[in-house]
Amino acid sequence: MTNNSDFLKELHDPELPVPDDMRSSVAVTNLDKLMSTVYNWGRRNSIWPMAFGLACCAIEMIATAASRYDQARFGMEVIRASPRQSDLMLVSGTVTKKMVVPIVRLYNQMPEPKYVLAMGACACGGGPFKDGYNVVGGIDKYIPVDVYVPGCPPTPQALLHGLIMLQKKIDGQSLSNRNSVPWYGRGPSDEATMPVLGPDIIDPRQAHILRRQAGATEQPSEPADTDA
Ligand code: SF4
Repeated sequence: MTNNSDFLKELHDPELPVPDDMRSSVAVTNLDKLMSTVYNWGRRNSIWPMAFGLACCAIEMIATAASRYDQARFGMEVIRASPRQSDLMLVSGTVTKKMVVPIVRLYNQMPEPKYVLAMGACACGGGPFKDGYNVVGGIDKYIPVDVYVPGCPPTPQALLHGLIMLQKKIDGQSLSNRNSVPWYGRGPSDEATMPVLGPDIIDPRQAHILRRQAGATEQPSEPADTDA
């Protein structure tokens, strides 16, 4: 924030008159402007990420939090071990079909307002393992993503840029645009749908059943024709 008079000037609604001699100490404003000037400022500088990593990208995420890059400069150093206390889910790494279920469950357990940052090619779209039998082609197929950070892996600088983009997004959230702040609507927000393990998602705990079924459907091979 800037100095006191600049801040009051920014907060003040020019359509609402204030006597000249009171302008250095009084601002008259509306709720929406108060939200964009003060409330969003406080929220964007106190984001609590969830302690959560999936693969190699998580190492870069850890480096971002360490002293060299110092995520604390953005008010994001309080990394929580519980989704109930987190504002931000950093999906850092390869999302396998087995892991997508707990990821969506954790997302649903986070309180509103909550944000998701997809870090790296894997989380954004499947990455180098996109055609693998066990990898999903992007976490945004299951939960809403606010910021994408491409790269394999993205550098800590790239992640910091993504976090700054998230701060800009929070700055732009306004009561006058209800779609940008759905958690102020009536009633609870809709939960993300829990993924169901489909026919192309193999549960390794059921491997013995799958092997048995594959053996039962296997056709006996034809004997070779030796008369020709
Ligand atoms: S994007 Fe690259 S570095 Fe990140 S998890 Fe995938 S393979 Fe690893």
